[in-house]
Amino acid sequence: MLSGKLLEVEDLKTYFYTLRGIVRAVDGVSFSLRKGEILGIAGESGSGKSTLAWSILGLVPPPGRIVGGSIMIDGMDLTKMGEAELRKRVRWKKVSMVFQGAMNVLTPVYTVGRQIEEVLTIHGRMSRSDARARIYELLESVGLHRSIADRYPHELSGGQKQRVVIAMALSLEPDIVIADEPTTALDVVVQAQILNLLKKLAWEKNLSIILITHDLSVIAELAETVMIMYGGKIAEYGPSDRVFSQPKHPYTQALLRAIPRLRGPIDRLAYIPGTPPDLRNPPTGCRFHPRCPKAFDRCAREEPPLFRVGENHLSACWLNEGEG
Ligand code: SF4
Repeated sequence: MLSGKLLEVEDLKTYFYTLRGIVRAVDGVSFSLRKGEILGIAGESGSGKSTLAWSILGLVPPPGRIVGGSIMIDGMDLTKMGEAELRKRVRWKKVSMVFQGAMNVLTPVYTVGRQIEEVLTIHGRMSRSDARARIYELLESVGLHRSIADRYPHELSGGQKQRVVIAMALSLEPDIVIADEPTTALDVVVQAQILNLLKKLAWEKNLSIILITHDLSVIAELAETVMIMYGGKIAEYGPSDRVFSQPKHPYTQALLRAIPRLRGPIDRLAYIPGTPPDLRNPPTGCRFHPRCPKAFDRCAREEPPLFRVGENHLSACWLNEGEG
């Protein structure tokens, strides 16, 4: 199902110019995404994962802006496009987003059908009569009955609202959907249903999904590739099965030790001491060094590049130098 590259991000830098200094939220990130691929991006709050998503959609809120690098889709560099062009050619059509807290994204005073219709008629320039049939098709594609079109958001369960938001994101048949914490605030049964839905959509529609979450178990369930971010940079990147079975970066190792396990001996959960770095004034060298249990002299002096540690597997740690 996987084929050529659909999205290529190269040395992306997105900074926020605040009164208290420049926050380097995304600082030199490069990766690519193939058609049909599900990429999971994980990291603590402030790791830059949501800012990366906003950058791809051209929705970085002020005082932030993209200050370097490129984001290529279909031969277009999104970092060079103005707001009008992004709206006309990219958002909803090439890339759409299921926002964090999606259940609150729906407007309470309009029916579900009317909200999907707005996307179809305003952004897709579809007639209202054509839009009706498409609304039914979209609702059914996410496992909802067409009668949901005439309901108001408050009449739906959390899982149904999340499905509606996913249907909206799919309305203009984008190539890429960015899902930012799509299962937060849902109970575990509904969480599993939404993850299964995303997996089914990726398979049936050959849709590429960027899944942003702090929950590594969600990525293990869904994504074939994982990117671990720390302090605005990539710490580790690679096929999920490899990263989960043979994590190379001490930060990934620490994140995995912090996941509760159902099987095996009951152990005290590990935690990562310290706090994420202040990105106005990040630590020198490796940004993880103040919290890293394996840090040594060089770590505070020199910043590690991403070392190849296996096929399509990269790790930004001096301990991995010369491994690939
Ligand atoms: Fe730890 Fe040093 Fe590797 Fe950074 S480079 S993760 S501080 S061992």
